[in-house]
Amino acid sequence: MKLSRRVQQLSPSLTLAITAKAKALRLEGKDVIGLGAGEPDFNTPRHIMDAAVAAMDAGHTKYTPSAGIPELKQAITEKLKRDNGLSYEPSQITVTVGAKHALYDLFQAVLDEGDEVIIPSPYWVSYIEQVKLAGGVPVVVETSEDNGFKMTPEQLKQAITDRTVAVLINSPSNPTGMVYSEQELRALGKICVDRDLLIVSDEIYEHLIYDEGVKHVSIAALGPELYERTVVINGVSKTYSMTGWRIGFAAGPAPVIKAMTDLASHSTSNPTSIAQYAAIAALSGTHEPVEEMKKAFRQRRDYVIDRVNRIPGFHCLKPPGAFYAFINIRGAMDQAGFKTSDEWSTALLEKELVAVVPGSAFGSDDHIRISYATSMDKLEKALDRIERFVKGNKK
Ligand code: PMP
Ligand code: GLU
Repeated sequence: MKLSRRVQQLSPSLTLAITAKAKALRLEGKDVIGLGAGEPDFNTPRHIMDAAVAAMDAGHTKYTPSAGIPELKQAITEKLKRDNGLSYEPSQITVTVGAKHALYDLFQAVLDEGDEVIIPSPYWVSYIEQVKLAGGVPVVVETSEDNGFKMTPEQLKQAITDRTVAVLINSPSNPTGMVYSEQELRALGKICVDRDLLIVSDEIYEHLIYDEGVKHVSIAALGPELYERTVVINGVSKTYSMTGWRIGFAAGPAPVIKAMTDLASHSTSNPTSIAQYAAIAALSGTHEPVEEMKKAFRQRRDYVIDRVNRIPGFHCLKPPGAFYAFINIRGAMDQAGFKTSDEWSTALLEKELVAVVPGSAFGSDDHIRISYATSMDKLEKALDRIERFVKGNKK
C-alpha cells in the first residue's frame, strides 16, 4: 500500500504510545505503573460535567460554528483579559479540538515548504512533527540545564536565518517545567520584533505553577508589537483535568485565526458541541477544584524531586511549573552500560513495570520524563521500583 512521503517521515507520539503500552500491559493483568502521558489523575470537576449534561438536555448536540460557539468565545475573551491582560475581538479567537489541533492548524496556516520554526529543546514531542507535516523545518535550539533549560537571547539570535518564520515559546514548559520571567520574555520578544518573526506561545500549563514569586506572563501582553505578532495557544485539558474532552483555543491576529478556522472547517468541522459548553463552565466557574488539584501536584512534586535526587546517578532541577520531572539519568545509564534513554526506559518497563518517557522524545537522550500527575501511592511505589532497578543495575 502506498503511503505519502509526509506520513512516512512521521514518528508517532511517544508520550501517547507509552501510555497505550502501559494500559495494554495492565489489561494483561500486569501491575504496571504509568508515569507516561501528562494527564491529571483527578476526574473533571463536578460542575463542569453537570454543564455538559445540561447542554445535552437542552439539545446542544448539533454542529456548531467551526470557530466555536459565541458563548465560549466570550468566556475565552474574558479569561484572556482576566488572567493575561489581553484584549481580543471574537474574530481573533478560534476554538479547536484540543490545544494540539490549534498548533496543528496554526503551522498549516503559516508555513510554506522550507520555512523554519525555532524550537527550544527539550521540547514537547508534537511540535517537531507538526512543523514537518506543514512542510516546515524545525530548528532546534539546545538549552542547557545550567541555564535552567531556558533559551538565551544570544542562542535565539544565532538560530535565526532568512528562512525563519516563527519561534516557539512554551512556558511553563513540557517537559522541563521551567517558567520564563517577564524580563527573559522581553529580551526574546525584542529579537522577534527586530527580525519580524511570529511567536507561537503555548501557555497550556499557565495555572500549574507552584512556587511563590514565580508568575506566568504571556509574551503577548508585553506591548503592542508583541501582541500583534503572537498567537497564544491554550486549552482546558491540564488546568481542569479535561484531557478527554478535547477543547483548546488560539488567540491572535484575525487573518491567521480565520485561516486556521477555514482549515478546521474542512477537517474537524467543529470541536464537540457538548465539550464546548463544559469548557464555558470550566473557564467561567469556580477555581476551587483547580486549587485543590494544584495543592496535590505541589506536594507530589516536592516528594518526587526529593526522592529522585537521592537515587545514585540521577539529578533533577526543581521544576516551578507543569507536572513533570525531567530527570538527568546519564550517570545511572553509564554505570549500568545503557547507551540510550530508550533502552533504559524499555528495560525499566520490562523489569519493574514502570512506564516513563525516554528523553529522546523531547530532544535529550540524557533524560527521562516522569509525570507526577498521579496518586502519591503510585508515585511512592514507582519510585521504590525505579530505585531498585537502578541499584540492581549497578556494575
Ligand atoms: N502543549 C503542550 C506543551 C502539551 O503538553 C500538551 C499536552 N497534550 C498540549 C499542548 C496539547 O494539549 P491538548 O491537546 O490536550 O489541549
Ligand atoms: N501532553 C501530554 C504529554 O506530553 C499528553 C500526551 C500528548 O499529547 O503528547 O504527555
